[in-house]
Amino acid sequence: MPQEKNQPNVAADDFAALAAAQVEPEIIREMLKVYLNPEQKEMLGQNMARGISLLADLKAQLDTAKAQFKGRITAVEGEIAESARMLNIGYQMANVECRVIRNFEHKTVTLYRMDTDPEELVSERPMTRDELQRKLDFDAAQAAICTRCGERPARSGDDLCPQCDEEYQAEMAKKD
Ligand SMILES: [Zn+2]
Repeated sequence: MPQEKNQPNVAADDFAALAAAQVEPEIIREMLKVYLNPEQKEMLGQNMARGISLLADLKAQLDTAKAQFKGRITAVEGEIAESARMLNIGYQMANVECRVIRNFEHKTVTLYRMDTDPEELVSERPMTRDELQRKLDFDAAQAAICTRCGERPARSGDDLCPQCDEEYQAEMAKKD
């Protein structure tokens, strides 16, 4: 028995006294040191190793969760700050449809925003050299006369006016 070496060497006297008193023997439980055997020690060692590994894993998960929450907190803080900023200045920037007016007489390009009624002036600038040249090219194309009727203006990049072109197409269709 493992306890034998810890037991004081008075058991024999006590047992003798017990026998002499002729008292009913009684068994109770006491909290006492019980030394570990090698199997128990090995099992505890394994438990410790498992615990250390699990602890490291849990700490890593905690770090990950912390980082995720920090990211979410930062995002919400950003939303709050942006709302506060917009509330403070009273507007936000957005893409708004604008009407472009090219005035070739005044050689200006004017923008009017279409989300207001009446449409408000946004900006006005002088026409660029390119824009003026494009207009001149367009006018020249418009000025070309139909080669068929010789009266109506030919379509841009075409020899015929739209009406004559339609007639021509119809004639070609009949021939087929
Ligand atoms: Zn024509």
